[in-house]
Formats: sequence, C-alpha cells, structure tokens
Amino acid sequence: MIAQLAVPPLVEIAEMRAEAEDFHMSSSRETGMLLRTLAGSKPGGRLLELGTGVGVGAAWLLDGMDATARLTTVELHPEAAEICRTMLASDPRAEVVEAHGIKWLEAYTGPLFDLIFVDVGQLKYERRDLTLSKLAPGGLFVCDDVIWSPEWDPAVRPSKDRVDKFRAEIFAQPGFNVTLMDWGSGVCIASRLIDPDHPEYDGARRVWNGLVDRRPALVARCSGTADVVQAVRVAAERRPAVSIRAGGHQVAGSAVCDGGLVIDLSAMRGVHVDPASRTARVQAGVPMGQLDRETQVFGLVTPGGDVQGTGVAGLTLGGGIGLLARAHGLSCDHLRAVEIVTADGQVRTADPHEHPDLLWAARGCGRGLGVVTSLELDLGVLGPMVAIVEVYYPGDRAEPVLRAWRDATEALPDTVTPMAVLRGLPRFRQVSSDLHDRPVVGVGAVYAGPPAEAEAVLAPLRRLDDPVIDASGVVRYEQVPSPPAVVTRAFMKSHFLSELTDDAIRTLLDQEARRIRSGTEVVIRTLGGAVARVPEERSAYPHRAARFNVNVNAMWRDPGLDDAILDWCRSTWTAMRPHADGGVYLNFSGLADEAEAMLDAAYGASAARVDSIRRRYDPDGVFGLAARQP
Ligand SMILES: Cc1cc2nc3c(=O)[nH]c(=O)nc-3n(C[C@H](O)[C@H](O)[C@H](O)COP(=O)(O)OP(=O)(O)OC[C@H]3O[C@@H](n4cnc5c(N)ncnc54)[C@H](O)[C@@H]3O)c2cc1C
Repeated sequence: MIAQLAVPPLVEIAEMRAEAEDFHMSSSRETGMLLRTLAGSKPGGRLLELGTGVGVGAAWLLDGMDATARLTTVELHPEAAEICRTMLASDPRAEVVEAHGIKWLEAYTGPLFDLIFVDVGQLKYERRDLTLSKLAPGGLFVCDDVIWSPEWDPAVRPSKDRVDKFRAEIFAQPGFNVTLMDWGSGVCIASRLIDPDHPEYDGARRVWNGLVDRRPALVARCSGTADVVQAVRVAAERRPAVSIRAGGHQVAGSAVCDGGLVIDLSAMRGVHVDPASRTARVQAGVPMGQLDRETQVFGLVTPGGDVQGTGVAGLTLGGGIGLLARAHGLSCDHLRAVEIVTADGQVRTADPHEHPDLLWAARGCGRGLGVVTSLELDLGVLGPMVAIVEVYYPGDRAEPVLRAWRDATEALPDTVTPMAVLRGLPRFRQVSSDLHDRPVVGVGAVYAGPPAEAEAVLAPLRRLDDPVIDASGVVRYEQVPSPPAVVTRAFMKSHFLSELTDDAIRTLLDQEARRIRSGTEVVIRTLGGAVARVPEERSAYPHRAARFNVNVNAMWRDPGLDDAILDWCRSTWTAMRPHADGGVYLNFSGLADEAEAMLDAAYGASAARVDSIRRRYDPDGVFGLAARQP
C-alpha cells in the first residue's frame, strides 16, 4: 500500500533534503499519511509541529490542510530551520520558527491549537503537560516513535524505558481519549475532552433549553468520525452514562447527562449537496438553517422543522415534522443512509443494502442505536421564492376560525401543510403596539410549488374571518423557518390526533382562556398526505395514520414564571389527552422524567423491533441512556 502511495512533491523534496543532510529522524511515510489525513479534518484549524527537522512532517501536514488552515512549526537547529523556511517560503499557510521548543511553548499565549504533532523527545515524554496545555478542546495531540524498536538509530533513539513509560502514562492522562496504533514507529493520537475544570466546560454543557442544568464528567467535542470512534471506544471500555449532542435543541436536554460522557458533534458542520443526484450529505452537527442555505443554492429542499437552529440529526432521527410534510413527507422519509459508529467502535454505513435494520430504525426512532456521524438526504425541488400564508385572526373569534381552518384544510391539496397556532400577536409595524401579545389564532402555510399558482389555492386560509393582520406574500424559502432563538427556558409536549373534533377545539379554547401569556402557545400541525403514504416497513416512525399534531409549547425567560407556565402546559396537555390517539411525538415529548415516561407512546408499534435492533448492535447497552431519553 505504501509503495503505491502518491507522495506529494514537497514531501519528496524534503525527503531528498533529509537524505542529503544525513538527517535520519524524519517522519516515516506511514506517519506522514496519517498526519495528512488528520490535518484534513481541521479545516481552518491552527496546527503546530514541534521539531521541524528539515520539514518532512510539515510537508505532509500542509498537503492535508485546507487553504485557510495555518501551520506553525518550531525547530531548534538554525540550519534545519533555514532549510525548511526556504522550502516553504512560497506557502503562506506555514510559519517556521527557530526556537527552543520548551521555551517557545512556555512563552506562547496565542490561541490554542487544533492539532499538535510532537517530534521533540522532552515535549513528548517529560514535558507533555506543557504541550497538552496548548491544545484546544477537540484538538488532537499526535506523536510517533511510541513503540520502541531495537532497529531505531542508536545514536538518537530514546531508551526503551522512556518509551514504555510514555505509553503507560498517556492512557492515564485525564481529559483525553487516547489511541495507540502499531503504525510506522508506533503512533499515539489523543483528543482533548472538556472536563469540569476546563474554562469552556460551562459553555459545553449548556443546551438550548435553559431549564436544563446537567453536569457531565467529560465532554468529547468531536471534529470528525475518528474522534467519535475514539469516544465510543472509551465509552465501551469505561462504561460511563453516554449522551449524544447534535444541535442541542431537544427540550428534554437529552443531549447532556449528569456525571457521564457527552459525545458532542456540534462542531461537525460539513454539508455537501450533489445537485445531479439531488442528495445532500450532512455531518451530524449541522443545524437546519445551514442545510437550507446550502440546498437552496441549487433550488433544492429537504423538509425540516420550523426554526433554523434545530439540529438536522436529532430532528431527522426523531421524525422531522415541518411545513412541507404533506407534500414531501417527514425529514426521516428523506433519509437515504447514515454513517453510524456503533457500540463496538465500528463505522458502519446503514442504507437499504447494508444494515437496512439500522436505517429503518434511524428513520424516526433513531435514539440509542449508536452515534450517527453523517446523514445522506434526498432533496426535492422548491424555491428560492415560495408563497406563504401568515394570517392572524382575533382571539375572540377563535372557535369559528379553528373550525373553518379544519374544514378548509380537508379540501386543500397536499402541496399545502396548514398550521394553526393559539398565541399572542407578534409585533408588526402595521399594527398598533397595543395589540401586541393579544390572543390570536395564527394560520400559516408554505405552498410547495411555484408561487404563481399559489394564490388561488391558499386563498381559503386567508378568508376564515376578518384578520387582525394578513402578512402573507412571497418570500425566500430560507427565510421561512424562524431564525435561531437565543437560549431560553422551554417546554414542548404533543399529542397526535386522528381528528380535530369540535370538542377538542373547545377543550383547547378552555385552556386558552387560562393561558399564561409570555411565550406560551398551542401549535396544531396538519399531517396526512405524503406522511401517510409511506409504508410501515420503510421506517420506524409509528404515527403515519395521525392527521394532526397538537403541541403545547412555551418559551420564556423569567425563572419566576417556571411553575405557572409548566403547570399550564401540563394541564393543557392532560386536558387534550381524551381527544388524542395515544401517540406522542418523540421530538416534542416534555422534560426529563416526564419525557422518559412518554417513550412507549413515542415508539408505539415500532418499540419492540427498535429494541431488538438496539440489542443487536449494542448488546451491553453503551447507549442505554440515549435509548431511554427522547
Ligand atoms: C425551537 C424549537 C423548534 C422546533 N421545531 C421543530 C419542528 O418544527 N419540527 C420538528 O419535528 N421538531 C422540532 N423541534 C424539535 C426538534 O426536532 C428536537 O428537539 C430534536 O431532537 C432536535 O435535534 P438536535 O440535534 O438539535 O437535538 P439534540 O438535543 O442535540 O439531540 C437530541 C437527541 O437526539 C439524539 N441524537 C442527536 N443527534 C444524534 C446523532 N448524531 N446520533 C445519534 N443520536 C443523536 C440523541 O439521543 C440526543 O440526545 C423543535 C425544537 C425546538 C427547541
């Protein structure tokens, strides 16, 4: 394999220079290949090499780095530093520093590094603490020469004891995931976790819902699949509670756990759209708004949620109900494949041919199967401009409006997925500020087709009564989901309904009369259409027959309102129970313990099969906590 390796020209030049200078300590080609791969996982990253030599390692790193990444390489010997400086003179990404490595690191106060490759004995063995202190969370510490060999050059080789001691110590290093590879002269890769003493700990444990206050023992901020594999291997070995964080928007706060390990994917933000096959490959930390921006470049969409900040991963693995549902189905209906790291640390592709059971479960019941590192999604055609309905009717007309809305909805084609919301009136320039937050019924929809044909189709939703304001129009599709909301206190819990009866409407309005203002609302989404047409064997999502989802929703800031708002939300949910079909949506399933109690209702008829798939891939329950939470 090595013989067939295409060696970058700069590496060949550096190797020739090493030969000419009789310098025998350069990185091997195996190590070089690995460095190049790891450098490629840090787009825009800051890389540091300690011990430049004549630049072989630097040449490999530069070959893997993108145009925005930067490499600082530090070399003690002036002649070697000069050779390397001359060789790299034309590459603006590289800076060669001639300095004593320890002194340079001690004096260094700049930003932390995303990857440090160490080829200086002391900084690898005795002063490793100093080297590691300059590594950013999620950053990689890499060094070679960690499996001693009698064949190493006796003039420069470290003692066997020194190398063996390194190996024993590095595994005990707190706050790092460590992998040792029998590759080249033995390679060690350690990624930095975030523990409670780390200055970024509080930021790393915070999720979108400010009601959640959990204190994990460690946060593994992953920058790619390799980091996830390491984190999963550590989890399988040491068996902490494990939670998985993508967009961090699940209101139950299941992305973080107390006392355990958080596998944090939020920095994995790559999106690649292939307009020819109409697919997108999306890394697990990508929020919905970013995906929409990328797909809209090509006039393509995948159905997502109503806000830009939710993670594509959590949303899709839990189903994904949005404003295009009746036309395009759920987000999970567009899931072609996932890359997933299972409990045994294997990276698997789950698609219709390989591990189809995992793909089936990932479509809507995707908690606790493993860590999904990327999702491949089918795209549909829509945008960039779309016609929308946004009309607010007076709250005192809510009953006839909701009935008329329900009846109008029956007659609408699947290109419309109407939504109704009982809430306070948002601010509009055209409406007197006195009316702000007055009770209203909002009616919304996006037309999933050319705006030119939308007006007549959408008209019934705009004449349900005399509106307070009609803000309908034609907008860019990207602007339809609300911008990411700042971290707040939040609650969401829903029912599925097969019918929205007059009684159900009256129950909602009784609760509406007692609604605590300040951010509470009840959102009624329509389903059916494309959602109902997906056969059971294609996905685990179990609520295909439901016609409506009623979500009791609240976002507020004042902690003094916690009890009153939560009481109102829960009493509204309970009041609606007799009108519901028994199903609860995994992505809207309340807070912590209450959400765990909802899991049977959330998994419904798929529960037993999902469970057996989990047991097949995770017999020891490494992801047991994720499986028990929404
Ligand atoms: C303001 C707001 C608006 C919303 N709007 C909608 C909407 O319109 N439609 C809708 O359907 N939902 C909506 N949701 C709900 C949302 O879909 C869920 O909260 C979803 O879980 C968010 O995904 P996330 O990646 O941000 O979540 P996270 O909190 O990061 O993850 C939730 C859980 O999903 C699992 N998970 C996430 N990523 C992975 C992964 N890569 N591999 C394995 N498991 C993983 C984990 O078990 C994790 O605990 C909304 C939520 C909020 C807060």
